[in-house]
Amino acid sequence: MATFSLHGIPVSRGIAIGRAHLLRSAALDVKHYLISQEKIESEVQRLSNAIAQVHEELQTIRKDLSPEAPSELGAFIDVHVLILSDPIVSEQPLDIIRSRYYNAEWALLTQIDALSAQFDEIEDAYLRERKNDILQVGERILKALLGSANSISNVSEPEIASQIIVVAHDISPADMLQFRDRSFVGFVTDLGGQNSHTAIVARSLDIPAAVGMSNASILINQNDWVIIDGDAGVVIVNPASVVLDQYRENQNRLLRERKKLGKLKKTPAITRDGTEIHMLANIELPEDCSSALEAGAVGVGLFRSEFLFMGRTGYANKLPSEDEQFESYRKAVVAMKGKPVTIRTLDVGADKPLDKAEETALNPALGLRAIRYCLAEPQMFLTQLRAILRASAYGPINLLIPMLSHAFEIDQSLLLIEQAKTQLRAEKKKFDEKIHVGAMIEIPAAALTLPLFIKRLDFLSIGTNDLIQYTLAIDRVDHEVAHLYDPLHPAILQLLATTISAGAKAGVPVAVCGEVAGDIKLTRLLLGLGLREFSMHPAQLLSVKQEILNSDISEIEPQVKKILKLYEPEAIAEAVEKLQSL
Ligand code: PEP
Ligand code: MG
Repeated sequence: MATFSLHGIPVSRGIAIGRAHLLRSAALDVKHYLISQEKIESEVQRLSNAIAQVHEELQTIRKDLSPEAPSELGAFIDVHVLILSDPIVSEQPLDIIRSRYYNAEWALLTQIDALSAQFDEIEDAYLRERKNDILQVGERILKALLGSANSISNVSEPEIASQIIVVAHDISPADMLQFRDRSFVGFVTDLGGQNSHTAIVARSLDIPAAVGMSNASILINQNDWVIIDGDAGVVIVNPASVVLDQYRENQNRLLRERKKLGKLKKTPAITRDGTEIHMLANIELPEDCSSALEAGAVGVGLFRSEFLFMGRTGYANKLPSEDEQFESYRKAVVAMKGKPVTIRTLDVGADKPLDKAEETALNPALGLRAIRYCLAEPQMFLTQLRAILRASAYGPINLLIPMLSHAFEIDQSLLLIEQAKTQLRAEKKKFDEKIHVGAMIEIPAAALTLPLFIKRLDFLSIGTNDLIQYTLAIDRVDHEVAHLYDPLHPAILQLLATTISAGAKAGVPVAVCGEVAGDIKLTRLLLGLGLREFSMHPAQLLSVKQEILNSDISEIEPQVKKILKLYEPEAIAEAVEKLQSL
């Protein structure tokens, strides 16, 4: 068997070794033929039944979602239910059968192809992702039509016993669920990028994955031996036995390290030279608080509240009510048992649109996003502010505002917070009068005008995901420019350094809550820059904590000062790597 390797995008760390299980695309099995007039209604019925069956399947999956399932999964499945309920998917293919006499599969594919061609014409990263959702829903209906359970349940037990790596053109969020309960050890897909659904769910399940592999699902055969090196985004197919042994050894070492990490849960995050570091968690839904506490977080540094609004996209009138939001925020703060919860106000637009935001923007990442959207919809914003404030009566909450860049945006936000407080006082509803309000520093303009922010706000949180996107002018969800995404670019280092030191000088706490905070290769650099608050996905907390426990800031700081004077990328990379051996 030929050995070869494939390179894609690393999205979830670790090493997985197993036999390939290919998920074939149902579209490959579709036959195209014309039906006679008498058969039209029965063909329409066949397609309607398949759609109803998928509807039921998705509802059941959603209902049976275990409490430990990653919270994103439920939202993604809701999106699929919404797509399925849309007449462009559920009605128009029926019209195609009636008007063109196509068989059901052909009619469905014709409609899905037409929709996906429309999506291709729009240069909008979020809509590109939605195109995948439509394709996945189409695939599910096709499978129902073909009666082929082309799924995990088809894998025989002996195969399962030998650990399976799923190889597919694409995997839908609902399909991901089936993998959870079985011994699937990794994923390889042709499609996808850093922020694709497969990537997000694989990360939250903590399973190695590599995506964006172009034609892995064609090149890899059923039962091939596959190694996924999740850190490098490399897949090795039918490796030589020495390579396999080497990876097994690495895998065992990683497993041993992970076991050891579990013991650090209760250990306070204090550096070798005695500095205490705050290790906080990023969450999407209140249910994530349990994994945050499990991982020893001392609070929630970023509650991305937009996830409460997701799965309702396109249905602005179905925004969560004040009471519904209040319940979610209260649930989170109660679950954290007195530990602080930083709730970020709605960060919609760009890759997470509600109705109006998606209509016109050609460059949605530069459009009516986050606080810009909220200030344009003050009533909606007030509802959220009231809900957050009411929840602050049940435990410590900080309010975090995303995407601020102008002084007047800060002032307007503060004014609306005041207005919400005044209303609640008049209604005799309790809230924390002294609630802290902070800003995400994620636009270069903000990082370059810190006095504006420090004067008006209680804390800052650096969103490196967007700060890098906007500083380096690279769309964070466009895989064509993914190679330009570089947290070590000297411009980024300068902005991080300025923000952290300005905060320290003014006595205003500064956290980092972007992906950079969870990258152990950057922990020492951040410590040396003066960072004392790290917020990250709970799955990353313990390995970062271990890095902190082994670090001595007094040794790191002088080296990091030197790094800030470097401009050549190789020199920076080398110096950052050297921090690891201090
Ligand atoms: C960021 O931009 O770094 C951040 C934490 O926010 P999000 O990824 O939700 O935009
Ligand atoms: Mg952001």
